[in-house]
Amino acid sequence: MLSFWEKDIFLKKYDIIIIGAGFSGLWLAYFLKKAKPNLEICILDSGILPTGASTKNAGFSCFGSPTELLENIKTMGNDAAMFWAEERFKGIGIIHQHFGSEIDYEPCGGTELFDDQAIFKETKDQISILNHHLKEITGKTEHFYENDEVISSCGFQGFSNAISNTAEGSIHSGKLINALQETLYAMKVRIFFGVAVKNYEVVNDSVRVFAENGLEFKARHLSIATNAFTKKLLPEVDLYPGRGQVFITEPIDGLNWKGTFHFDKGYYYFRNYQNRVLFGGGRNLNFEIENTNEFGLTDLVQNMLEKLLYENIIPKYKSIKIDQRWSGIMAFDQTKTPISKCLNPQISLSVRMNGMGVALAPTLAEKLAKEIQIHI
Ligand SMILES: Cc1cc2nc3c(=O)[nH]c(=O)nc-3n(C[C@H](O)[C@H](O)[C@H](O)COP(=O)(O)OP(=O)(O)OC[C@H]3O[C@@H](n4cnc5c(N)ncnc54)[C@H](O)[C@@H]3O)c2cc1C
Repeated sequence: MLSFWEKDIFLKKYDIIIIGAGFSGLWLAYFLKKAKPNLEICILDSGILPTGASTKNAGFSCFGSPTELLENIKTMGNDAAMFWAEERFKGIGIIHQHFGSEIDYEPCGGTELFDDQAIFKETKDQISILNHHLKEITGKTEHFYENDEVISSCGFQGFSNAISNTAEGSIHSGKLINALQETLYAMKVRIFFGVAVKNYEVVNDSVRVFAENGLEFKARHLSIATNAFTKKLLPEVDLYPGRGQVFITEPIDGLNWKGTFHFDKGYYYFRNYQNRVLFGGGRNLNFEIENTNEFGLTDLVQNMLEKLLYENIIPKYKSIKIDQRWSGIMAFDQTKTPISKCLNPQISLSVRMNGMGVALAPTLAEKLAKEIQIHI
């Protein structure tokens, strides 16, 4: 039972309620508040911490490996693929500009590794076209370049070729969430954790938001930023969940490489974080099982990650142990594009980040904030 005081301060009618305190929800609150400091905004999240993808990813700030970009061109056409690459590039720029010094941001570059020479050759043949398009985005004439030497200099095995770029980097995702939260607290945005939203209804000029614990919140506008968990609130949204499993090793004395790496069309990704190898992926080993919004680890994926770690990534350090393992849940669809828009003057959503939300959330949020402001 709530007291008069609690209702008066914490459950008053807000201008905007955002469901989801991951990157999408936090960046949206930031841009709304920045544009209109008087807006009363609260964010509701079901977890004690944000519990989806934002604090569970591998902390890559990438906007596309060559095979991923080529795949996107096939799926959505050149213009759309370049549009989304640019949105991601701009998003990384926004992250860097706002919090670069607080989030262990490292402009270490990114490298795609190949173990199949036919795929490498096919990709290499397209590099100059990709570079031509990307020049307008990154300002670099040779965004992608062949870099086979990196394989032996890093001590990797089982890869024949490599294509690097200089524009990508890595971050500490926990520090970015923390920096966003602290910025929002200073802007007087309330964040309530442990509030799982069950449903909502629009009544005249109000949206009533009902939580599993019986609490009811009200606002003039509701924005849904629940990514893979959106179907619970909006069953009609076209998306499916995808689990990403990740582990980090204990620190390795003498680990002599830095940077972010991908292979197998981006299905595997690894990096150095403070001389530990952070390695994730393997969703493609069994899509049927991994297209789930249940957190968890499977022997199939974990065994493959370990095999690849010890055979291909750190073959010299076979006694190094895995320190921690976890999973995160992403949201995908066949078009590989997010949905970020107002459905009507009172409801908006920004979901289905297609595994690109670290980079995309800031740009999508900035645009959606402008759209929402027209209605409130
Ligand atoms: C292993 C892994 C690797 C990744 N690699 C990259 C990468 O290299 N580059 C990149 O750009 N992105 C990457 N991503 C994806 C990126 O992390 C996500 O796209 C991004 O974090 C999505 O942010 P979000 O805020 O939209 O969703 P989320 O972070 O999932 O946030 C949604 C929030 O909504 C809350 N919520 C859900 N339902 C409810 C409800 N009913 N009531 C209240 N709260 C609710 C959840 O608790 C959660 O905190 C990766 C993700 C994973 C898991």
